[in-house]
Amino acid sequence: MIFSKGSKFNSILPIRCPQCHKGKFLERSPYNFSKFTKVRKQCACCGLQYSMEPSFYFGSMYVAYGIGVALMVATTAISYWVSTSFSFLKTFFAICAAMAILGPYINALSKIIWANMFFSYKEDSENIKDKT
Ligand SMILES: [Zn+2]
Repeated sequence: MIFSKGSKFNSILPIRCPQCHKGKFLERSPYNFSKFTKVRKQCACCGLQYSMEPSFYFGSMYVAYGIGVALMVATTAISYWVSTSFSFLKTFFAICAAMAILGPYINALSKIIWANMFFSYKEDSENIKDKT
């Protein structure tokens, strides 16, 4: 089961702490542009430091690039499927629209996926904070 307790999807989809899956990962929602997908310093629930080193999330742009390419392929496939006459220009605008709408979410997703490559779920991580 991919949605079972402890699965990385429980961290990635709601954009929550990769260690306890409860604490918030971002300062604000991806669509709040004042703090545009800014990652918090640490988890309020388990105390996990989200950044292992300065500019830790720089690497997440590779993930964002991958998601971006997947989105372009998907948008092209959908526009090819819905329109009887395939138009390169229409597809291009559809991709631009999809990027503009989903861009902030992709950015947030890329960061939480990146974080999940380095941190993993711990069953009692909430209690770790109290003991230390
Ligand atoms: Zn946490």
